[in-house]
Amino acid sequence: MELKRVEMLGFKSFPEKISVEFDRGITAIVGPNGSGKSNISDAVRWVLGEQSARTLRGAKMEDVIFAGTQRRRPVNYAQVTLVLDNSDKKIPIEYDEVSISRRVYRSGESEYTVNQNRCRLKDVQELLMDTGIGKDGYSVIGQGQIDQLLSTKPQERRLIFEEAAGIVKYKTRKETAIKE
Ligand code: ATP
Ligand code: MG
Repeated sequence: MELKRVEMLGFKSFPEKISVEFDRGITAIVGPNGSGKSNISDAVRWVLGEQSARTLRGAKMEDVIFAGTQRRRPVNYAQVTLVLDNSDKKIPIEYDEVSISRRVYRSGESEYTVNQNRCRLKDVQELLMDTGIGKDGYSVIGQGQIDQLLSTKPQERRLIFEEAAGIVKYKTRKETAIKE
């Protein structure tokens, strides 16, 4: 499973639709300070369900929506789509390509879709559990996260190993079943 493309529309500093392609191998994003490099990784976290505005370097969730500049009017919603190659079927659905989208309006309402079908955040999370690409997976490693991993409590560290081992899905289902 590989990330093929990130499409953004109205997200942070990208008012127009922009598509960032990830070829096989290593992709490096370079550019001057403030040009939007980190905004691309914020977009990836956001579409995977990040709910904390602070993690996304903003004060409130609305800050992910393009706020306008002197020459451009603000936009009404932000949308990000991740396109993943699923030919190895790591994501448990039958399609070779999986596109996951999130859109948020200024009112705060978020919409998620998987291959154009509306779904809940919970569905996105369940789909990505144990693939290593959830918002708390190890696919997006932020500044300071390695230190945090080393100094964290053993119980919290265990979660990272469980995700890598592919058993989080079963644990979550068990916990839900016990609650119900
Ligand atoms: P550095 O090299 O300093 O890390 P960077 O390329 O990572 O820079 P980012 O932090 O991704 O830059 O981008 C910051 C820019 O995004 C700022 O100019 C900021 O004004 C702009 N920006 C962030 N949120 C919004 C928003 N909601 N609307 C418009 N512009 C935004
Ligand atoms: Mg940056």
